[in-house]
Amino acid sequence: MTTRRKDHAAGAELPGPASELFPERLRRHRSVPDRFRSAGKKPLRVMKFGGTSVGDASCIGRVVEIIRTASRESDVVVVVSAMSGVTNRLVAAASQSESGDYKSVAAIFGELHQQHDAAANALIHSTAERSRLGRKMTELFQEGDRLCQGTILLRELTPRTRDALSSLGERLSTPLVAAALAERGVASAAIEATELVVTDACHGAADPNMELTRERCEARLLPLLQQGIVPVVTGFIGAAPDGVLTTLGRGGSDYSATILGAVLDADEVILWTDVDGLQTADPRLVPGACTIPEVSYREAAELAYFGAKVLHPKTLRAIMPCGIPLWVRNTFAPERLGTKITPAGSPSGAGVKALTAIGDAVLITVGGPGFAGVQDVLGRTFRTMAAVRADVLLISQASSQNDLCLVVPSALAKCTVEALRHEFAHDLAHEPMEHITLDATVAMVTVVGQNMRSVPGTVGRTFGALGRDEVDLIAIAQGSSECTISFVVAKKDTQAALASIHREFRLGNPLNRTLAEDENYYRLCEPLQVNVQTNHHPDREQ
Ligand code: ADP
Ligand code: ASP
Ligand code: MG
Repeated sequence: MTTRRKDHAAGAELPGPASELFPERLRRHRSVPDRFRSAGKKPLRVMKFGGTSVGDASCIGRVVEIIRTASRESDVVVVVSAMSGVTNRLVAAASQSESGDYKSVAAIFGELHQQHDAAANALIHSTAERSRLGRKMTELFQEGDRLCQGTILLRELTPRTRDALSSLGERLSTPLVAAALAERGVASAAIEATELVVTDACHGAADPNMELTRERCEARLLPLLQQGIVPVVTGFIGAAPDGVLTTLGRGGSDYSATILGAVLDADEVILWTDVDGLQTADPRLVPGACTIPEVSYREAAELAYFGAKVLHPKTLRAIMPCGIPLWVRNTFAPERLGTKITPAGSPSGAGVKALTAIGDAVLITVGGPGFAGVQDVLGRTFRTMAAVRADVLLISQASSQNDLCLVVPSALAKCTVEALRHEFAHDLAHEPMEHITLDATVAMVTVVGQNMRSVPGTVGRTFGALGRDEVDLIAIAQGSSECTISFVVAKKDTQAALASIHREFRLGNPLNRTLAEDENYYRLCEPLQVNVQTNHHPDREQ
């Protein structure tokens, strides 16, 4: 139900009419012609629900209530992830097929089928609708089975097949959510994003073609919105121009939401997840982490890039050119405001905002005495890394012996090291020592905050705190953007490093923000107000 909201900071009741919820300044960037909008010119929200948010029937029940509330005051496009854990299981099935283990594949599909059936049975009461949904699910599982059988036969898992298999989770959850909405009286249509999001053919990490995607979305989604139908779109997937299914990368439904938000010129995009917004650190690693009310696009993008799982690394890319506000909010506590991500961020925003860490990274060192006389080490290293599409997370060079430290994601470690050894094989043929080494026992920590240079002592305080808490540093890099300071520590020291800096900058302390800042924040944000009862049991609803 829609509620009038209390000002959390001052306890005052705040205004809530739609005109104030969507001030004119947010409409300035609009390019979608108003003729596409329904007569009342409702604002448009793209709302994405992550895996935990659609984890079972009871969670989907909450999601339905949130969408129902939002659809009363705005047009809504919904983006849905696979049910929690499902994509991992599908990826496992893909690997099992490659090794020829059909028994394991069948067991995985059996479990997944049961899980989806159970949710459908709890959510959908109409027998006809339940059997329609059941047939759809069976078709999808048969498709998955055929893909696995083919892989088993060839003992080869192509990137294209891996994408097709891992897409099944979203293709299963989307019709389920659409049917659950219909059950609660919200007109909805399940749509596969292969119809909407046009990408390149880079399987596993596809990038969208925004212009073609805009054309498709306008043609397919705007007529539905005009008829008051809520489109429910699969996150994570798209299709190359030839129609072959692609995925945007693990966790890519966030990116799907901002892509749709950008091409539809939405008033806002909301990522509904299982935490209260962007936190000052991963709450699983820093128990005292707290919600950040407002951050800039830049800060959020850095957090995402440097490991904050709550946002897919490319999420901000799609909306950066158009300035659409992005919210991160909690499906399980929708009365809380979450985090607002805006182009400029908080007006009083200089200084350290949040910390993040990447545990599944490796440190590659290129250098040592044998490299002292080798020509163009830097150029050749970077060209080699680019050829294997290795994302370099940190670079540091500090030695006359060409010692170069590079941090890359673990998944790329093997191919990167092999490529570098191949590149320098000739130069090092007569060297008895190993000069390209890999250390998988490290983690990378990043301190994020806008204009940190304008706050004197930030670097000193960061490393002073680590010294006091006896955390040893292995490599350091400060982004010239003044937005990040990254360093490498032993994996075992990750939590200690995060706790140390979190404490030093009092990030967990609400007093770190002034009351005035908070008041200002709550006045400016004016988010969608939703209040969903916590004891909601969809199977007991009528
Ligand atoms: P969803 O399935 O909704 O996409 P994810 O699991 O991908 O959710 O992301 C949410 C998780 O991200 C949280 O449960 C939290 O553990 C983790 N996380 C890591 N860093 C942060 C951070 N800075 N703020 C909030 N959550 C974070
Ligand atoms: N289901 C996909 C994954 O687990 C995409 C997502 O959840 O965002 O990676
Ligand atoms: Mg996610």
